[in-house]
Amino acid sequence: MSSRRGGRVLGTTLVLGALALGLCVGCAREEGEGVRVVASTSVLADICRNVAGRWARVTSLIPAAADPHGFQPTPGDLRSVAASDLIVLNGAGLEGALRDAMENAGLHAMVVEAGRGLPARTPGPDEVSFGEGADADPHYWLDPLLVVHYVRVIETALKTVDPAHAVAYAANADRYVARLEELDRWIGETVAVVPERRRLLVTDHLAWGYFADRYGFRLIGAVMSSVTSGGSPTARDLSDLVARIRELGVPVIFVDAAESPTLAKQVAAEAGVRVVDTLRFHSLTGPKGPASTYLTMMRFDVEQMVEALR
Ligand SMILES: [Zn+2]
Repeated sequence: MSSRRGGRVLGTTLVLGALALGLCVGCAREEGEGVRVVASTSVLADICRNVAGRWARVTSLIPAAADPHGFQPTPGDLRSVAASDLIVLNGAGLEGALRDAMENAGLHAMVVEAGRGLPARTPGPDEVSFGEGADADPHYWLDPLLVVHYVRVIETALKTVDPAHAVAYAANADRYVARLEELDRWIGETVAVVPERRRLLVTDHLAWGYFADRYGFRLIGAVMSSVTSGGSPTARDLSDLVARIRELGVPVIFVDAAESPTLAKQVAAEAGVRVVDTLRFHSLTGPKGPASTYLTMMRFDVEQMVEALR
Protein backbone atom coordinates (compact mmCIF):
# COMPACT_ATOMS: atom_id res chain seq x y z
CA MET A 1 0.00 0.00 0.00
CA SER A 2 1.45 3.32 -0.97
CA SER A 3 1.86 6.21 1.44
CA ARG A 4 0.42 8.56 -1.15
CA ARG A 5 -3.07 7.73 -0.01
CA GLY A 6 -2.38 9.35 3.34
CA GLY A 7 -2.30 12.85 1.88
CA ARG A 8 -5.91 13.69 2.47
CA VAL A 9 -6.39 12.41 5.98
CA LEU A 10 -4.90 14.61 8.67
CA GLY A 11 -7.40 16.90 10.25
CA THR A 12 -10.18 16.01 7.93
CA THR A 13 -13.57 14.81 8.95
CA LEU A 14 -14.85 12.08 6.76
CA VAL A 15 -18.58 12.11 6.48
CA LEU A 16 -19.14 9.64 3.71
CA GLY A 17 -21.83 7.03 3.38
CA ALA A 18 -22.11 6.67 7.12
CA LEU A 19 -25.38 4.88 7.05
CA ALA A 20 -23.96 2.10 4.92
CA LEU A 21 -23.12 0.30 8.14
CA GLY A 22 -26.54 0.92 9.63
CA LEU A 23 -24.90 2.52 12.63
CA CYS A 24 -25.44 5.62 14.63
CA VAL A 25 -22.13 7.04 13.59
CA GLY A 26 -21.35 10.50 14.76
CA CYS A 27 -23.91 10.38 17.58
CA ALA A 28 -22.95 12.96 20.16
CA ARG A 29 -21.10 11.32 22.99
CA GLU A 30 -22.73 11.45 26.33
CA GLU A 31 -21.79 13.95 28.98
CA GLY A 32 -18.84 12.81 31.08
CA GLU A 33 -18.15 9.77 28.95
CA GLY A 34 -14.79 10.99 27.74
CA VAL A 35 -13.29 11.07 24.31
CA ARG A 36 -13.27 7.73 22.51
CA VAL A 37 -10.00 7.10 20.74
CA VAL A 38 -9.31 4.09 18.54
CA ALA A 39 -5.69 3.51 17.57
CA SER A 40 -4.70 0.95 14.98
CA THR A 41 -1.85 -0.77 16.86
CA SER A 42 -1.26 -1.47 20.53
CA VAL A 43 1.92 0.61 20.36
CA LEU A 44 -0.01 3.64 19.09
CA ALA A 45 -2.74 3.05 21.68
CA ASP A 46 -0.16 3.16 24.48
CA ILE A 47 1.26 6.43 23.15
CA CYS A 48 -2.29 7.85 22.92
CA ARG A 49 -3.02 6.83 26.53
CA ASN A 50 0.03 8.69 27.71
CA VAL A 51 -1.10 11.87 25.98
CA ALA A 52 -4.80 11.51 26.81
CA GLY A 53 -4.38 10.61 30.49
CA ARG A 54 -7.75 10.19 32.15
CA TRP A 55 -9.68 12.23 29.61
CA ALA A 56 -10.07 9.56 26.96
CA ARG A 57 -10.85 5.90 26.55
CA VAL A 58 -8.28 4.43 24.20
CA THR A 59 -8.57 1.06 22.50
CA SER A 60 -6.54 -0.58 19.77
CA LEU A 61 -7.87 -2.53 16.83
CA ILE A 62 -4.95 -4.77 16.00
CA PRO A 63 -4.55 -7.21 18.86
CA ALA A 64 -1.30 -7.83 20.71
CA ALA A 65 0.83 -10.45 18.98
CA ALA A 66 -0.81 -9.73 15.62
CA ASP A 67 1.03 -8.51 12.54
CA PRO A 68 -0.25 -5.03 11.63
CA HIS A 69 0.99 -5.29 8.04
CA GLY A 70 -1.50 -8.00 7.17
CA PHE A 71 -4.36 -6.87 9.38
CA GLN A 72 -7.86 -7.34 7.97
CA PRO A 73 -10.53 -5.55 10.02
CA THR A 74 -13.70 -7.38 10.99
CA PRO A 75 -17.18 -5.80 10.91
CA GLY A 76 -16.82 -5.47 14.71
CA ASP A 77 -13.61 -3.47 14.27
CA LEU A 78 -15.39 -1.14 11.88
CA ARG A 79 -18.21 -0.67 14.38
CA SER A 80 -15.76 0.41 17.08
CA VAL A 81 -14.07 2.73 14.60
CA ALA A 82 -17.45 4.20 13.69
CA ALA A 83 -18.32 4.82 17.33
CA SER A 84 -15.11 6.73 18.09
CA ASP A 85 -14.32 10.43 18.20
CA LEU A 86 -10.73 10.13 17.04
CA ILE A 87 -8.96 7.47 15.01
CA VAL A 88 -5.18 7.35 15.19
CA LEU A 89 -3.31 5.49 12.47
CA ASN A 90 0.40 5.15 11.89
CA GLY A 91 0.20 5.93 8.18
CA ALA A 92 2.90 5.39 5.54
CA GLY A 93 0.96 2.38 4.32
CA LEU A 94 1.01 0.35 7.54
CA GLU A 95 -2.77 0.04 7.74
CA GLY A 96 -3.59 -0.46 4.08
CA ALA A 97 -6.56 -2.80 4.40
CA LEU A 98 -7.93 -0.95 7.43
CA ARG A 99 -7.73 2.40 5.63
CA ASP A 100 -9.56 0.99 2.64
CA ALA A 101 -12.30 -0.55 4.79
CA MET A 102 -12.74 2.70 6.75
CA GLU A 103 -13.10 4.75 3.61
CA ASN A 104 -15.65 2.32 2.22
CA ALA A 105 -17.64 2.27 5.46
CA GLY A 106 -17.76 6.03 5.95
CA LEU A 107 -16.88 7.73 9.18
CA HIS A 108 -17.66 10.76 11.22
CA ALA A 109 -14.61 10.64 13.47
CA MET A 110 -11.49 12.67 12.99
CA VAL A 111 -8.71 10.57 11.46
CA VAL A 112 -5.04 11.37 11.95
CA GLU A 113 -1.89 9.64 10.86
CA ALA A 114 0.71 9.96 13.60
CA GLY A 115 3.57 9.55 11.14
CA ARG A 116 2.29 12.06 8.64
CA GLY A 117 4.86 14.73 7.83
CA LEU A 118 7.84 12.55 8.74
CA PRO A 119 10.20 11.98 5.84
CA ALA A 120 10.42 8.36 4.69
CA ARG A 121 13.95 7.01 4.81
CA THR A 122 15.77 5.83 1.75
CA PRO A 123 18.12 2.83 1.98
CA GLY A 124 21.82 3.62 2.39
CA PRO A 125 24.20 2.97 -0.54
CA ASP A 126 25.34 -0.43 0.78
CA GLU A 127 21.90 -1.59 1.93
CA VAL A 128 19.56 -3.89 0.07
CA SER A 129 17.10 -1.77 -1.87
CA PHE A 130 13.39 -1.96 -1.13
CA GLY A 131 12.88 -2.51 -4.83
CA GLU A 132 11.42 -0.40 -7.61
CA GLY A 133 8.23 1.42 -6.60
CA ALA A 134 8.46 0.03 -3.08
CA ASP A 135 6.34 1.33 -0.23
CA ALA A 136 7.67 3.87 2.24
CA ASP A 137 9.09 2.47 5.46
CA PRO A 138 6.32 2.90 8.07
CA HIS A 139 8.37 1.83 11.15
CA TYR A 140 9.01 5.35 12.47
CA TRP A 141 8.15 4.29 16.02
CA LEU A 142 11.38 2.34 16.39
CA ASP A 143 13.16 5.69 16.77
CA PRO A 144 11.90 7.30 20.02
CA LEU A 145 12.69 10.79 18.78
CA LEU A 146 10.34 10.25 15.83
CA VAL A 147 7.69 9.20 18.37
CA VAL A 148 7.94 12.76 19.70
CA HIS A 149 6.35 13.75 16.36
CA TYR A 150 3.59 11.14 16.93
CA VAL A 151 2.95 12.65 20.36
CA ARG A 152 2.56 16.17 18.99
CA VAL A 153 0.17 14.98 16.24
CA ILE A 154 -1.93 13.12 18.84
CA GLU A 155 -1.85 16.09 21.24
CA THR A 156 -3.11 18.44 18.50
CA ALA A 157 -5.85 15.97 17.52
CA LEU A 158 -7.04 15.53 21.11
CA LYS A 159 -7.15 19.30 21.61
CA THR A 160 -9.27 19.56 18.47
CA VAL A 161 -11.83 16.93 19.45
CA ASP A 162 -11.82 17.92 23.14
CA PRO A 163 -10.68 21.54 23.55
CA ALA A 164 -11.96 21.65 27.15
CA HIS A 165 -8.95 19.56 28.25
CA ALA A 166 -6.31 21.15 26.04
CA VAL A 167 -4.13 22.19 28.97
CA ALA A 168 -4.07 18.65 30.36
CA TYR A 169 -3.20 17.17 26.96
CA ALA A 170 -0.32 19.62 26.55
CA ALA A 171 1.07 18.80 30.01
CA ASN A 172 0.73 15.04 29.45
CA ALA A 173 2.43 15.31 26.08
CA ASP A 174 5.34 17.29 27.52
CA ARG A 175 5.79 14.73 30.29
CA TYR A 176 5.80 11.83 27.85
CA VAL A 177 8.20 13.59 25.48
CA ALA A 178 10.64 13.89 28.39
CA ARG A 179 10.39 10.11 28.87
CA LEU A 180 11.01 9.52 25.15
CA GLU A 181 14.11 11.70 25.34
CA GLU A 182 15.25 9.72 28.37
CA LEU A 183 14.68 6.48 26.41
CA ASP A 184 16.72 7.88 23.51
CA ARG A 185 19.63 8.64 25.87
CA TRP A 186 19.37 5.17 27.42
CA ILE A 187 19.45 3.45 24.02
CA GLY A 188 22.49 5.51 22.97
CA GLU A 189 24.34 4.53 26.16
CA THR A 190 23.25 0.88 26.01
CA VAL A 191 24.23 0.20 22.40
CA ALA A 192 27.60 1.86 23.01
CA VAL A 193 28.93 -1.48 24.32
CA VAL A 194 28.48 -2.98 20.83
CA PRO A 195 31.46 -2.02 18.63
CA GLU A 196 30.33 -0.15 15.54
CA ARG A 197 31.58 -2.90 13.20
CA ARG A 198 29.23 -5.34 14.97
CA ARG A 199 26.11 -3.15 14.79
CA LEU A 200 24.72 -5.24 11.95
CA LEU A 201 21.03 -6.01 11.62
CA VAL A 202 19.42 -8.86 9.74
CA THR A 203 15.71 -9.18 10.44
CA ASP A 204 12.53 -10.78 9.18
CA HIS A 205 11.66 -7.69 7.13
CA LEU A 206 13.28 -4.27 6.94
CA ALA A 207 11.75 -2.72 10.05
CA TRP A 208 14.71 -1.18 11.88
CA GLY A 209 15.84 1.48 9.39
CA TYR A 210 14.96 4.56 11.45
CA PHE A 211 16.48 2.96 14.54
CA ALA A 212 19.62 2.07 12.55
CA ASP A 213 19.95 5.63 11.29
CA ARG A 214 19.64 7.06 14.80
CA TYR A 215 21.98 4.69 16.63
CA GLY A 216 24.66 3.83 14.08
CA PHE A 217 23.53 0.37 12.97
CA ARG A 218 23.62 -1.02 9.42
CA LEU A 219 20.74 -2.89 7.82
CA ILE A 220 22.48 -5.84 6.20
CA GLY A 221 19.37 -7.50 4.88
CA ALA A 222 16.13 -9.21 5.69
CA VAL A 223 14.47 -12.53 5.01
CA MET A 224 11.70 -10.56 3.25
CA SER A 225 13.60 -7.87 1.42
CA SER A 226 10.87 -5.30 1.92
CA VAL A 227 9.49 -2.92 4.53
CA THR A 228 6.46 -5.12 5.05
CA SER A 229 5.97 -8.70 6.17
CA GLY A 230 4.44 -11.50 4.16
CA GLY A 231 6.66 -11.38 1.07
CA SER A 232 7.84 -14.45 -0.77
CA PRO A 233 11.58 -14.34 -1.27
CA THR A 234 13.05 -16.44 -4.05
CA ALA A 235 15.67 -19.13 -3.44
CA ARG A 236 18.16 -16.71 -5.00
CA ASP A 237 17.19 -13.94 -2.53
CA LEU A 238 17.75 -16.30 0.38
CA SER A 239 21.10 -17.61 -0.85
CA ASP A 240 22.26 -14.02 -1.42
CA LEU A 241 21.29 -13.22 2.16
CA VAL A 242 23.19 -16.26 3.48
CA ALA A 243 26.26 -15.09 1.55
CA ARG A 244 25.96 -11.56 2.94
CA ILE A 245 25.59 -12.83 6.51
CA ARG A 246 28.71 -14.98 6.15
CA GLU A 247 30.74 -12.31 4.40
CA LEU A 248 30.06 -9.68 7.05
CA GLY A 249 30.11 -12.01 10.05
CA VAL A 250 26.55 -11.16 11.17
CA PRO A 251 25.94 -13.33 14.27
CA VAL A 252 22.15 -13.33 14.51
CA ILE A 253 18.81 -12.85 12.73
CA PHE A 254 16.16 -10.96 14.70
CA VAL A 255 12.49 -11.83 14.27
CA ASP A 256 9.40 -10.29 15.86
CA ALA A 257 7.61 -12.72 18.17
CA ALA A 258 4.44 -12.15 16.12
CA GLU A 259 6.08 -13.36 12.93
CA SER A 260 6.78 -16.89 11.78
CA PRO A 261 10.48 -17.67 12.31
CA THR A 262 10.46 -20.62 9.89
CA LEU A 263 12.27 -19.00 6.96
CA ALA A 264 14.63 -17.07 9.22
CA LYS A 265 15.59 -20.37 10.88
CA GLN A 266 16.34 -21.94 7.50
CA VAL A 267 18.56 -19.00 6.52
CA ALA A 268 20.25 -19.03 9.93
CA ALA A 269 20.92 -22.76 9.75
CA GLU A 270 22.53 -22.38 6.36
CA ALA A 271 24.60 -19.40 7.42
CA GLY A 272 25.55 -20.99 10.73
CA VAL A 273 24.11 -18.21 12.90
CA ARG A 274 21.32 -18.07 15.44
CA VAL A 275 17.81 -16.61 15.49
CA VAL A 276 16.42 -14.42 18.25
CA ASP A 277 12.68 -14.54 17.71
CA THR A 278 11.50 -12.99 20.94
CA LEU A 279 11.69 -9.32 19.98
CA ARG A 280 8.49 -7.25 20.03
CA PHE A 281 8.49 -4.42 17.61
CA HIS A 282 5.03 -4.34 16.06
CA SER A 283 2.77 -4.89 19.02
CA LEU A 284 2.92 -4.97 22.79
CA THR A 285 2.54 -7.91 25.13
CA GLY A 286 -0.26 -8.08 27.66
CA PRO A 287 0.13 -6.13 30.91
CA LYS A 288 2.19 -8.87 32.58
CA GLY A 289 4.51 -9.38 29.60
CA PRO A 290 7.96 -7.83 29.13
CA ALA A 291 6.78 -5.28 26.54
CA SER A 292 3.53 -3.98 27.98
CA THR A 293 4.23 -0.36 27.01
CA TYR A 294 6.13 1.31 24.18
CA LEU A 295 8.89 2.36 26.59
CA THR A 296 9.39 -1.15 28.01
CA MET A 297 9.11 -2.69 24.53
CA MET A 298 12.03 -0.63 23.27
CA ARG A 299 14.16 -1.48 26.30
CA PHE A 300 13.27 -5.18 25.97
CA ASP A 301 14.32 -5.24 22.30
CA VAL A 302 17.48 -3.20 22.70
CA GLU A 303 18.67 -5.39 25.58
CA GLN A 304 18.23 -8.51 23.44
CA MET A 305 19.98 -6.92 20.47
CA VAL A 306 22.92 -5.80 22.54
CA GLU A 307 23.22 -9.19 24.21
CA ALA A 308 23.27 -10.97 20.82
CA LEU A 309 25.63 -8.56 19.04
CA ARG A 310 28.19 -7.48 21.63
ZN1 LIG B 1 6.94 -4.21 9.98
